[in-house]
Amino acid sequence: MSGLNPAQKAAVEHQNGPLLVLAGAGSGKTRVITQRIVRLLERGIPASAIVALTFTNKAAGEMGERIHKLLEGRKSAAKGLTISTFHSFGLNVLTREKRAQNTAFTIFDQGDAVGTVKEILRQVDAGKRFDVAAIMSRISNAKNAFLLPEELPDDGMDPYAEITKIVYPRYQAALRNFSAFDFDDLVCEVVRLWQARPDVLARWQEKARYLLVDEYQDTNRAQFMMLRLLAEPYRNICVVGDDDQAIYGWRGADVRNILEFEDQFSGAQVVKLEENYRSKQTILDVANAVISKRVDVRHKKHLFSSRLSDDKITIAVAPSPDAEAAYTVREIQRWIRDEGKQPKDCAVLYRSNGQAKVIEECLRTEGIAYRIVGGQQFFERKEVKDLLSYLKLTLNRSDEISLRRIMNYPARGIGDTSVERLALHAKAKGWTLWEAIERVDALDDVSEQARQGCKSLEKIVAETRKMILVEQTPASAVARALCERIGLKRDIEASSPTPNAAAKRWGNVEGLFNTLARREAKGGMEQARDISNFLHALTLDFGSDEETQGNAVTLSTLHGSKGLEFDIVHLLGCEEGFLPHQRTLEERATDAPTFAEDGGGSSKAADIEEERRLFYVGVTRARDVLVLSRCKARAMRGKPVPRTPSRFLMDIPPERFVEIEVRDEPAMSTNAGLEKANALLAMLEGLGG
Ligand code: ATP
Ligand code: MG
Repeated sequence: MSGLNPAQKAAVEHQNGPLLVLAGAGSGKTRVITQRIVRLLERGIPASAIVALTFTNKAAGEMGERIHKLLEGRKSAAKGLTISTFHSFGLNVLTREKRAQNTAFTIFDQGDAVGTVKEILRQVDAGKRFDVAAIMSRISNAKNAFLLPEELPDDGMDPYAEITKIVYPRYQAALRNFSAFDFDDLVCEVVRLWQARPDVLARWQEKARYLLVDEYQDTNRAQFMMLRLLAEPYRNICVVGDDDQAIYGWRGADVRNILEFEDQFSGAQVVKLEENYRSKQTILDVANAVISKRVDVRHKKHLFSSRLSDDKITIAVAPSPDAEAAYTVREIQRWIRDEGKQPKDCAVLYRSNGQAKVIEECLRTEGIAYRIVGGQQFFERKEVKDLLSYLKLTLNRSDEISLRRIMNYPARGIGDTSVERLALHAKAKGWTLWEAIERVDALDDVSEQARQGCKSLEKIVAETRKMILVEQTPASAVARALCERIGLKRDIEASSPTPNAAAKRWGNVEGLFNTLARREAKGGMEQARDISNFLHALTLDFGSDEETQGNAVTLSTLHGSKGLEFDIVHLLGCEEGFLPHQRTLEERATDAPTFAEDGGGSSKAADIEEERRLFYVGVTRARDVLVLSRCKARAMRGKPVPRTPSRFLMDIPPERFVEIEVRDEPAMSTNAGLEKANALLAMLEGLGG
């Protein structure tokens, strides 16, 4: 219990009934959650009756680590504790229920979802007229608001509302046909399941006798319903959050959940925390100045730092993105080389994923280790995805997305026409596409070549199934045998432009073998169930976490940085168009917010406010050093276009920052040259003396 202030202590000691901790950034909300869990355990509450939920895998991982640290020596006390994201918790619920029914399922990643929507648009002859991402985001928002297709409001004036009404039910039907769930389903399908099956719900309510939620300001309607159902009988729900950090409105989060918590859970105790333990006072002053300009309803907070200082923050003005990146990397190098900082103490934040490229290149050239938060690259690589598709299909033969992906890969004579013929037969006869392959002999308009191809694919899947289901071969061995069987290595060699490229691609496949083998070493990858769990986890990106551990500079979008803290933070691209984001500024041109990590939205003042909160989130990640950088110009379609400083920079009091001009020079090479020259000079001097 040491290391808590009185308000924190009150929140930790409070045991039963609803509790809301509403407080600004860095005030120890997450710390309250972890300490509270430890306190509950000390009081004899079984770990298996505690569920803590948060939003990102990283946050869940860190929470687990903090608890283990606090429990040192008593680690077994935490056995059975659930700390997870909403999505993986939902996945867990669905997995158990589906297992009880003995059915397999697949999780759609974004690529799968986009492909499906495209296909539906083609079927309803609306192919090119709509932006797929915009429709996806409408569907996603509907699901997050817990609306069924038939519950969508009518809006004849809005073409996107109309098309969504057409696509959404078909999309749901496709998911059902493929025995698949998308990300949003992992929450709302659980709620529907619980609503339909009070017996199932009751089991989970027992599991969640003590429920804790971090970052509550970003919950959506579906998540709220999940929590309300779960908390019903015991009402021991503790939520912590900060309405100033609500940044997922564009994805359906509803800040009213936190603002109205006391109405939803009557008798709730409310605790406010006012001391910030993270950032130096100057950084906090900057954050407070920007957030106090919020115009919408907010809980006024008086946040003060325990770390007085009169250092100023830096606003760096660069001539170009290259110069901005080079400067950022130079600074990081300086901290590491001269100031005893480590790569993991530094973070580079930006508004959109697209901004990462320049800085990534620069770090790579300089040989500085980095990791990209939420970067899924490894498992997105083609050859890895192909192999995973085989495994997914083997376990769930209704998974048409995976099937289509590998049906003719490597080439086995099933051309596009054949695929379409098979699909038509399947549709007419009410089969899945896989069933059409199994019954290809009964179909007369399929070419001999395609027929042979189908047989060979069927054989491959059957053999793989046997290895997994009957022989219980470990997953890495299954994957290797599969590669053998389909001749993946040969195909990679034949289709790569250079031997080097082929080696790289094959290296990715071996990377997957290694990941599987590591998993096996940790225990359990011999059974279909383990492999299927692993594949699900990969899709949710928590299988890849181990790849990205270690001492590395963190690169992250602002959204991905929520809840994290770093000694040194560089926030790039503080310019109109990036922050606030372009799509927020534009008139409702396409109304096409993407559902990717970089947000978006329409041009309402509310969206600018959300961008302001996002800026606040970024600023409050920094402990000691904050650098806000911007470019004077950026190349757009090859031409340099002048850029306007972000309006949020204007809200920073002049006495809190120094502005510097960044020179246009590469990250290190000049310095390296200089060092060499100096060494030479020193040597010459030595000779002369
Ligand atoms: P955010 O809003 O960004 O999620 P938060 O409110 O969850 O922030 P924490 O991450 O829990 O804040 O705490 C911020 C930092 O302050 C952490 O490094 C934490 O260990 C430290 N801290 C919190 N409370 C105390 C305390 N009473 N004494 C010393 N350090 C503290
Ligand atoms: Mg936190």
